[in-house]
Amino acid sequence: MPIRPRPITYHCPKCQWSKTIQPRSDALMPGDRVDTCPRCGHTDLEETTQNRPASLLEKIRAAFTQ
Ligand SMILES: [Zn+2]
Repeated sequence: MPIRPRPITYHCPKCQWSKTIQPRSDALMPGDRVDTCPRCGHTDLEETTQNRPASLLEKIRAAFTQ
């Protein structure tokens, strides 16, 4: 069963640039990762995984598997 990856928000503490990326699959593609700020070149970006509430389908699945 494929798990839909959570979106990742990158934030540059130096110039306040930020971007949210929704990975297309479990395997991150090269374009899904941001290591360097495209605006100021800062390399120590903050990485935040978005926590979204589970969908109705996910709740039903969880109820049946417990
Ligand atoms: Zn920056």
